[in-house]
Amino acid sequence: MVILEERVIPYTSKDNMVLNLINVRGAKEAHQGPVILVHGAGVRANIFRPPVRRNLVHALVDHGYDVWLSNWRGSIDLPPNEWTLDQAACFDHPEAVKKIQAETGASKVKAIIHCQGSTSFTMSVLAGLLPQVETIISNAVSLFTIVPQWSRVKLKYAVPLVAELTPFISPAWGDNPPTVFAKLIRAMVKMGHHECDNDVCKMVSFTYGAGCPALWRHKNINEQTHEWVRKEFADVPLSFFKQMARCVHRGNLISYDPIVSGLPLDFSVHKPQTDARFIFYTGKLNRCFLPESQIRAFKFFDKLRPNYHALEVLEHYSHLDIFIGERADKDIFPKMLAYLDGKI
Ligand SMILES: [Zn+2]
Repeated sequence: MVILEERVIPYTSKDNMVLNLINVRGAKEAHQGPVILVHGAGVRANIFRPPVRRNLVHALVDHGYDVWLSNWRGSIDLPPNEWTLDQAACFDHPEAVKKIQAETGASKVKAIIHCQGSTSFTMSVLAGLLPQVETIISNAVSLFTIVPQWSRVKLKYAVPLVAELTPFISPAWGDNPPTVFAKLIRAMVKMGHHECDNDVCKMVSFTYGAGCPALWRHKNINEQTHEWVRKEFADVPLSFFKQMARCVHRGNLISYDPIVSGLPLDFSVHKPQTDARFIFYTGKLNRCFLPESQIRAFKFFDKLRPNYHALEVLEHYSHLDIFIGERADKDIFPKMLAYLDGKI
């Protein structure tokens, strides 16, 4: 599969940050319309393009989709900034979708959203800021934020302490710790993690979950991908973790500063301002956000509109391997494409 065209198209957030979209098109005409891919925290748009034979971008382009990978403000391709989910929801995602519409002339856009790209995009959707989005594939977490017990402890006790010492934490410290504090964190993480010899992989688990590893099963990713992750994770701000600590305490998404953002305070008691169909994905072995997060989200939306939304709990998968797994092309993408097409 040969990618013929890749363009980086800047867009400006509502509060004047310069962000960008990577548009990928293949040899075939993109007859299926645009789909936006929204990455998680402390990574970048490229997270959907691991070194496997056929990744999600290949599969989408091959299937006739016009693929738009969004580098929103949580992207490590942008200068580090102390972002919140509110800012991404209000200022970034609506502008990204408008830019895609301006470039393509499409009236509707589909979305594949992952982790904190998913929470922030879901906030946008529920607040009525993305009426153009009709089908949403959400992985790992959306409206409900249920994490393992060890993560709850870290969010409650470690985040306030660490936030006093540094504005950012980075899994890249596994290879290059820039300060004494970073070296100390790496040494502590290495004492508790013996699952592989990749210190960035270990730092990812420490930063984002409670498992060894937390975001993937080693058996699901190939060796090149295990090395590739060294370059795909970097700074994530404590401002985000402060908001997520509040959400986890509440059990669902809440805005950080509703007076400033104009967003609902508690998204679980706010009537969703959208007709979009959600397809909730989760890995049964996810040690970042427990499967209960997406199961509860599905039940919430199914109650509002029965037999419209869908839920996929993947038996042998975790968090990010749903996208970067070597066999995701066979195990996951065919059904994901069928959902995107509206065939199931
Ligand atoms: Zn590893």
